[in-house]
Amino acid sequence: PSIPFAAPDGRGSGSVPNNMDAFWMPFTANRQFKKAPRLFVGAKDMHYTTDDGRQVLDGTAGLWCVNAGHCRPEIVKAVQDQVAAMDYAPAFQMGHPGAFELAAQLSALLPTGMDKVFFTNSGSESVDTALKVALAYHRARGEGTRTRFIGRERGYHGVGFGGISVGGIVTNRKFFGPMLAGVDHLPHTHDKAHQAFTQGQPEWGAHLADDLERIVALHDASTIAAVIVEPVAGSTGVLLPPKGYLEKLRAICDRHGILLIFDEVITGFGRLGTPFATDYFGVVPDIITAAKGLTNATVPMGAVFFKNAIYDAFMTGPENAIELFHGYTYSGHPLATAAGLATLKIYKEEGLLTRGADLAAYWQEAAHSLRGLPHVIDVRNLGLIAGIELEPIAGKPTARAFEAFLRAFDKGLLIRTTGDIIALSPPLIIEKDHIDQIFGILADILRDLP
Ligand code: PLP
Repeated sequence: PSIPFAAPDGRGSGSVPNNMDAFWMPFTANRQFKKAPRLFVGAKDMHYTTDDGRQVLDGTAGLWCVNAGHCRPEIVKAVQDQVAAMDYAPAFQMGHPGAFELAAQLSALLPTGMDKVFFTNSGSESVDTALKVALAYHRARGEGTRTRFIGRERGYHGVGFGGISVGGIVTNRKFFGPMLAGVDHLPHTHDKAHQAFTQGQPEWGAHLADDLERIVALHDASTIAAVIVEPVAGSTGVLLPPKGYLEKLRAICDRHGILLIFDEVITGFGRLGTPFATDYFGVVPDIITAAKGLTNATVPMGAVFFKNAIYDAFMTGPENAIELFHGYTYSGHPLATAAGLATLKIYKEEGLLTRGADLAAYWQEAAHSLRGLPHVIDVRNLGLIAGIELEPIAGKPTARAFEAFLRAFDKGLLIRTTGDIIALSPPLIIEKDHIDQIFGILADILRDLP
C-alpha cells in the first residue's frame, strides 16, 4: 500500500550489519532504513553514541520518555540490585513491596482524591485499561448504557484497538478499518489562521470544546462513558489546548456524568514544568494515563491513575471476589517498580518535575527564534515541548521534515518528525547551552534545506 508517512531516501550512520533482515521495525520505513541504518550503541545524560562513535544530542528524550537523562547510575543500580534479588513476582493474588511503595509515592504526586494506581507496561496498555475501567465503572453503578467514547481528531493514544479507535489519526483508519464501534471525535484544537506562532497556549479556540455538547445532544448523555484527550497532543505535532478549552471539557463532562480521561503519557512527569498537565492547567480529570517518564524509560512501564470514587465503585461485592477482571502478567514488574522508585527519587532530589518551568521562557524564546527562517510556517511551545511546522514540499508531504531529521542526525542532533512538523522534548536535565545548540543546529539546517 502507499504509505502516507513514507520518508524519502534515508542516510545512516555506520556500516550495514549483515543481520538486519529479521527485525520488523515499528513505525519505520524498514527497507529504506536497513540500507543505511542509524544505530545507537551507548547513551549518557543528554547524549547518545552512534555505532560510528559520534555523539548525538538528544532533543527528544528518546521518544519523550528519558526525562532524567540517560543511564542514570542510581536507576541502573536499583534495577541491577532488584534483578539479582528477585527477578519476577506474579501480579495476580500475590504482590511484592516495590509495587505498593511506587503506587503510594505516585499517589502523593497526584491531585487530591486521585490516589489509586493500576500498573501496565506501556502507554497503549494504560489507555486500554482506562477505557475498560470507564465502561465497567458505569456498569458497576447501574449505568451500563454508557458505552460510547469520545476522542479527538489528531489524538494519539497508542496502538491498541481502544487507543487507535479513540485516536484521530487517518492512517490508522486507512490501514485497520472501522475498529471499536461507538466512538465519536471532537475537532482538534489547531488552527493556523488563528494560532500561528502563538507563544504558549493560544487565546483562540476554547469554543471547540462546545462540540461535546453537540455530540451529547446527538447520542444522549446516558450512552456516553468517557471523553479522552491528550492535554497537549504530542505525537501528532504538538497541538496546544486553547486557553479555557480543557476547563470547558471538564464542565461539560460534569454536567452530563461523563468521565474525563487525560492521556498524560507524554505530559506526565515534568514535561510542562509541573508534575502532570493536570497541575499545569488546573483541570482535574477523573482518570490519568501515564507511561514513558515513569521509569525514565529504563524498564517498560505504564500506569493509570483513578479518582478514589472510581475505585470505590468497584469495592462493593463480596471481599473474596476479584473486583476488576483485568491485568497484565507484568503489571508492577519488580524491575519496573525498582526503576520507577529510583526515577522518582531523582525527580524529587533534582527538582526535575518543575525544572521545565524555570527553563520554559528560555526554551520559548529559543524556539521562536526560528520564526522567519525558510519554510517555517509555525512554532508552538509549552514547558519543554516545541513543535516547528515546515511548509511541505508540493506533492511530497513529509519529505522536507525528514530531510531535516537526517541533516540534524548528521550534525549530531536527534529530533523527531511527524508529518512536516519537527517535535522537540529534551530530557529535563537540559542546560541552556544545550538549548542553544539544539536551536542553533536547527537554524543552520533550515537555512539551506531544500
Ligand atoms: N498515549 C500518548 C499520548 C502517547 O504519546 C503514546 C506514545 O507516544 C502512547 C499513548 C502510547 O504509548 P506506548 O508507545 O508506550 O504504548
